[in-house]
Amino acid sequence: MEPSTLLSMGALLLVWYLSVGFGVTVAYHRVLTHRSATLRKPVLYALVLAGLPAGPPAEWVGNHRRHHADSDGPNDPHSPVHDGFWYAHCGWYLGVRNRGVCLLYALGGPLRYIVDMFLRQMSPGGHDERAKDVLEDRFLRFLSTRFGYIVGSTTQALPFVVAYFLMAWEGVAIAWVAGVVFYNAGDSVNSVGHLWGKQDFDGAGAARNNRFVALVSLGEGWHSGHHAFPRSARHGLLNGQVDASFLLLRLLSLVGLADDLYLPSAEAVTKRRRG
Ligand SMILES: [Zn+2]
Ligand SMILES: [Zn+2]
Repeated sequence: MEPSTLLSMGALLLVWYLSVGFGVTVAYHRVLTHRSATLRKPVLYALVLAGLPAGPPAEWVGNHRRHHADSDGPNDPHSPVHDGFWYAHCGWYLGVRNRGVCLLYALGGPLRYIVDMFLRQMSPGGHDERAKDVLEDRFLRFLSTRFGYIVGSTTQALPFVVAYFLMAWEGVAIAWVAGVVFYNAGDSVNSVGHLWGKQDFDGAGAARNNRFVALVSLGEGWHSGHHAFPRSARHGLLNGQVDASFLLLRLLSLVGLADDLYLPSAEAVTKRRRG
């Protein structure tokens, strides 16, 4: 194997990981769901397209707002405290609690798309009330319909095509494994993030700050900070808590592509801090 091929494959996986990751953490989560910042429309749309493995935007936003409205309560769509690890990790997408089925789905990687295209709740649907603002945008509404989601998802074939040209089927297999890692890194925020780690803040329920989850999810693992201050553009609120998604938002604001970054005051953070 040529070292240059391996280097190209590594670069592909890194760019892919960062684009899917930031698509979900920055666009879906911090900008669309919590309005922690605004983005220029082309940047927002590009990031949402990259984040489509997370599901249709309106459904994602609706479910996530439900999660915050009754975190670890009876109406939380994915609470490991109430429903166990596997249901919160990925079983809730399918509405199944069987561990074997959850494990198969967790290892499905890109195959999850086929299931998601037909089983995920598209617009119009039950989540629409909670995601009205998202559905007001024509492009985001289109991506939230079944037809639009399928059309938008064709962009996700690109990394596999590049991987095939670089390393043939071996490349496709490596990309597949990378896809499995991406999905599980994101899902771990809902499962691990409410079970293991430090409860640094009051009023954050069962949410935890978990350094490993924060690393693989580009800052989303600072989940105690996030639940204490849901609108904050920065989730890693304490010293030493590196938050890659916030760093990207800062960078985008420096070059004029993001605005209105919301941050809680230092006093408010100190007041809610435990210990
Ligand atoms: Zn949470
Ligand atoms: Zn949130």
